[in-house]
Amino acid sequence: MTVKIDRQKCCYCGGCTSICPVAALELKETVLVCHENCVNCGACTKACPVGALEVKK
Ligand code: SF4
Ligand code: SF4
Repeated sequence: MTVKIDRQKCCYCGGCTSICPVAALELKETVLVCHENCVNCGACTKACPVGALEVKK
């Protein structure tokens, strides 16, 4: 699973990467990627200050 990332909204603050319990989000400078080990827990979507993440249904 992965979360949907709105790359227009993301400001690369890194808040989501540190809150993810399975370290599925990886931020490399200005590129945020979500790896397949995501368990769709939703923690990152709540932590994102700009609402850039969405759990895929
Ligand atoms: S939904 Fe949960 S497991 Fe998936 S990237 Fe966000 S915090 Fe990590
Ligand atoms: S918390 Fe939101 S704004 Fe910050 S890096 Fe993650 S997706 Fe981007």
